Amino acid sequence: VKAIQLRRVGAVQLEELDMPEPRAEEILVRVTAAGMCGSDRHLVSGEYPGRPPVVLGHEFEGVVVGGALNAEVVLGARVTVDPNVSCGVCSSCRSGLVAHCQHLSAYGVDRDGGFAEHVRVLRRQAHVLPAEVPAQFGALCEPLSCCLRGMDRADIQPGQSVVVVGGGIMGQLLAQLARLAGARIVVLSTRQRARRELAESLGATASVDPTEVDPATAVTGRGGISPGGVDVVFDAAGAPGSFEQAIALARPAGTVVVVGAAPQELEARIRPFHIFERELRIVGSHLNPFTHQRAAQLVASPDLRLQPLITETVDLAELARALQRGPRAGEIKLIAAP
Ligand SMILES: [Zn+2]
Ligand SMILES: [Zn+2]
Repeated sequence: VKAIQLRRVGAVQLEELDMPEPRAEEILVRVTAAGMCGSDRHLVSGEYPGRPPVVLGHEFEGVVVGGALNAEVVLGARVTVDPNVSCGVCSSCRSGLVAHCQHLSAYGVDRDGGFAEHVRVLRRQAHVLPAEVPAQFGALCEPLSCCLRGMDRADIQPGQSVVVVGGGIMGQLLAQLARLAGARIVVLSTRQRARRELAESLGATASVDPTEVDPATAVTGRGGISPGGVDVVFDAAGAPGSFEQAIALARPAGTVVVVGAAPQELEARIRPFHIFERELRIVGSHLNPFTHQRAAQLVASPDLRLQPLITETVDLAELARALQRGPRAGEIKLIAAP
């Protein structure tokens, strides 16, 4: 089978590999759509640790073509795969903290993933998609499930104000989810104009360019969009600057949710007094514990507008090239159709 394999840091290419053979409790999936993620580029560059040689791709859907079937996961079933495999028996798992499993592994990171014509996965990682889900949306379930975790952590109340810092796939999804949760004001902050326009066309009530205006003034200042601060701020950019911006935007007793993965060694400048005095709540949101099933249901809903987030569909050869260059302007999500 054709597959995009990370052979070692910096070396990624399209290979011809043996057909995977499903083992106990595994199914064989013919991949129909697999999304590329910023973290795939980080795996290639070594900024994010993987376990090469490994087939990349952690956001994918496909059709069941063999392996350990059951009444629900049958031949021909269309499934989305939750790539994050927890062990179920360590103390974290037994406390319900599966994203913090001590034996956590993931398809496309340390198990062969979905940038391939076929992949073998544990049956319990597969979620059957509702029949009405449009083509390729199953590949968006993983980023969506991570955003649902972020939403759970944010606990947005109807009528509240929300700022999303970052306009990539996570930021775009969070802006839509915040609106669906009843937020009255949803502002997207990103320097890329195309991403601001996209967010506004999909339901954000406003957007700001942090390189043109000081977001704290434009949003929370007198005469701003949400004077006095916003109820919930998502850092969906994963950078020291975006985190600092998020802290500056939150109202007293507001919530900052960190959903973007910043490079591990970078530090941000924040004043403890600011957090103390404003009683800020700063929470992290890691992976997708128990949210993949909800994502698989939600992608069937026309309330979420996903098609505009798919920038382009390419073959595996083109995707391998895209992995080695940076994202193009306006690029949100590339999908490979193997
Ligand atoms: Zn991803
Ligand atoms: Zn565990």
